Amino acid sequence: MTAVVDRLDSERTRFSVEFFPPRSDDEERILWRAVRELEPLDPAFVSVTYGAGGSSRDRTIRTTGRIAQETTLTPMAHLTAVDHSVAELRNVIGWYAASGVRNVLAVRGDPPGDPNGEWIQHPEGLRYAEELVRLVSELGDFCVGVAAFPHGHPRSADPDSDVDHLVRKIRAGAGFAIAQLFLQPEVFLRLRDRMAARGCDVPLLPGVMPITTPRVLGKFGELAGAPVPSEVEEKLLPLAEDPAGFRAAGVELVTQLCERLIAEGVPALHFYTLNRSKATKEVVTNLGL
Ligand code: FAD
Repeated sequence: MTAVVDRLDSERTRFSVEFFPPRSDDEERILWRAVRELEPLDPAFVSVTYGAGGSSRDRTIRTTGRIAQETTLTPMAHLTAVDHSVAELRNVIGWYAASGVRNVLAVRGDPPGDPNGEWIQHPEGLRYAEELVRLVSELGDFCVGVAAFPHGHPRSADPDSDVDHLVRKIRAGAGFAIAQLFLQPEVFLRLRDRMAARGCDVPLLPGVMPITTPRVLGKFGELAGAPVPSEVEEKLLPLAEDPAGFRAAGVELVTQLCERLIAEGVPALHFYTLNRSKATKEVVTNLGL
């Protein structure tokens, strides 16, 4: 199975996609429709997030394993340290290896329930993503990625210590990083410069989400950890009652963001798909990727 870093090409920008594990048979069908629609576009890799509960976690293992075995795609499984002992984490990593998954995104995860609540370490578990990177790396020939935060992680004291922690987890064994959502390219580029200033030049992939509805725009603000920029609100909010107009403007806005990122030489654009293919396909096609 190919490593994510080997799917990134220094000559051209590629794209990758992110799914979440389906919660029902209906969602499973929707997910697999999206997988099959995106497969012919040859994404660099497809990732599946890791949820908070036991059954959601089983579905991540099952879904990534199925992608490894039944498609031509390169899968990546996310893994978090939330509510897991080290023994349980070893077990999950073993399942990934057994089902042909060689790429793991090692993230700490947020507290279940309230993402801003207190982060409580499992008594026999890990505290930071850095330790998870080490654990995954020592358990096999995995290609490990980590999360990065262009606006700074909400729990960080200041941007500098946040980048220091990011660089530490990369030095612990990660080969690449994926950035949380943002809408202003400068915010992403500033993070990339800060990493470079610390001598860290692993691929940093921007997280991108096509803004198709006012609800998705709201989710954007939550995930990015920063308010939606006023110029974006001014463009999109007047179209809130016009679904087709909103969608077209949102897709155009994200296409323009991606064009700038491609001009800045990003190795790949990582699309949060919400398990749908249509908007991602549209942006990827607009960009000629
Ligand atoms: P860490 O790197 O451990 O950092 C957490 C906080 O601790 C930060 O403030 C950091 O600056 C600080 N810190 C780190 N190391 C140290 C140290 N040594 N000393 C002091 N402070 C330190 N969540 C899920 O539940 N499932 C997913 O599948 C998932 N996928 C994601 C994918 C991407 C691309 C991104 C960007 C996020 C994802 N998340 C996911 C969310 C993520 O788990 C949360 O944002 C979490 O709060 C941070 O995870 P992390 O890996 O960056 O943590």
